[in-house]
Amino acid sequence: MTAEPKKFKFSFRINAQACMACAACELECRDEAVFIDDTVNYAINQENCKRCARCQRACPSGAVEKVMNA
Ligand code: SF4
Ligand code: SF4
Repeated sequence: MTAEPKKFKFSFRINAQACMACAACELECRDEAVFIDDTVNYAINQENCKRCARCQRACPSGAVEKVMNA
């Protein structure tokens, strides 16, 4: 269940299969939205995320995916 209190039209999500765990997204994020989840994969906290796309631009492996919200 992804909480969407701000009703953004889209979200960014990290594809764990594509992620190389380089930490570039974490370093780029100004809102501390990138974290390591309990499966030890990088993930994005949707409540902190401002949808700025800095993480997506920084990712060398295309692992940050833009997904439209319902
Ligand atoms: S879109 Fe921006 S705010 Fe959201 S996780 Fe990526 S860098 Fe952080
Ligand atoms: S920048 Fe991309 S490859 Fe690097 S940790 Fe983030 S999602 Fe994974």
